[in-house]
Amino acid sequence: NLYNMLQELRGNIRVFCRIRPLFDSTSRSTIDCIGEDGSVMVFDPLKPQSTRKVFQFNKVFGPKATQGDVYKETQSLIRSVVDGYNVCIFAYGQTGSGKTHTMYGPSGGSGQDNGINYMALNDLFHISGARENVKYQINVQMVEIYNEQVRDLLAEDSSATRLEIRTCTSNGQMTLPDAKMLLVGSTEDVINAMKLGETNRASSFTAMNDRSSRSHSILIVHVHGEEDSGEVTNSCLYLVDLAGSERVDRSEATGDRLKEAQHINKSLSCLGDVITALAQKNSHIPYRNSKLTQLLQKSLGGNAKMLMFAHISPEVESFTETISTLKFAQRAS
Ligand code: ADP
Ligand code: MG
Repeated sequence: NLYNMLQELRGNIRVFCRIRPLFDSTSRSTIDCIGEDGSVMVFDPLKPQSTRKVFQFNKVFGPKATQGDVYKETQSLIRSVVDGYNVCIFAYGQTGSGKTHTMYGPSGGSGQDNGINYMALNDLFHISGARENVKYQINVQMVEIYNEQVRDLLAEDSSATRLEIRTCTSNGQMTLPDAKMLLVGSTEDVINAMKLGETNRASSFTAMNDRSSRSHSILIVHVHGEEDSGEVTNSCLYLVDLAGSERVDRSEATGDRLKEAQHINKSLSCLGDVITALAQKNSHIPYRNSKLTQLLQKSLGGNAKMLMFAHISPEVESFTETISTLKFAQRAS
């Protein structure tokens, strides 16, 4: 349809900005205004004289936007997966800016207000189920990347499994052959898989509080289609809740915390480099510089479609991080 055609013309990289509501609705916001055209203007209320800065995106979701509003703009990508495209959707932003809310939902995703992961899978079942001449099989893997190590979140003993990213000999693409693959047939299966993943993620790190903000969690959805004629399609959807992008004060962080921060900085800056190279249509794309970009390789570049959510916390204290998130996201356009 026309909408899809317009999406095609816009290219394969799209960037949306999402601003969460103020935690304290009586405090001041750094968001000056949001344009229908995808622009957002920010300023520092503590420095009224400083100039307002404008950033341009494909779309901006303000604090009142619902999960449904956000998903409506994402849905065409999910359709693309069934059509055989590889797709990557990821949430970027500082800790507390709403990444997990967008991808999973407020209660970790099992209750009301489910996020993109659930709605996407739900849609995949509907769209694939409605295609008459093709039989689809949907499998999921769930992993996290922490300190440049990939860990299987669906394995029985998830702490024991450190996964290698391997090159598939038949098509040269990067895969995780040793990560547990779960066949899913309904949204309930998906919810159970994600619950298991979340439990595994939390359990081995009780000592470190909120470790989830310092690792990337990735839900990998494999869609395998077989037409009556025997033709086969394989595509992948990567749903990524990135580690918090905030800068850690080097003078304060030491030991494990410093190591974590360095790994996060490295992988997010590698991701930024890959996106910039893609946006500039460079011939060399530096995928190999981090585990994250290696793993996402087939869903970034080529025919693949990518969507980044840049998440913003509107509080005054977050202004510096807000500017840095907006600048990062701007690199893609
Ligand atoms: P992050 O994953 O980036 O650290 P969270 O998704 O955990 O951030 O969000 C931080 C808090 O703000 C959570 O309590 C979450 O429920 C709430 N929140 C985030 N985005 C929204 C939103 N758009 N509407 C309402 N509450 C939100
Ligand atoms: Mg989170």
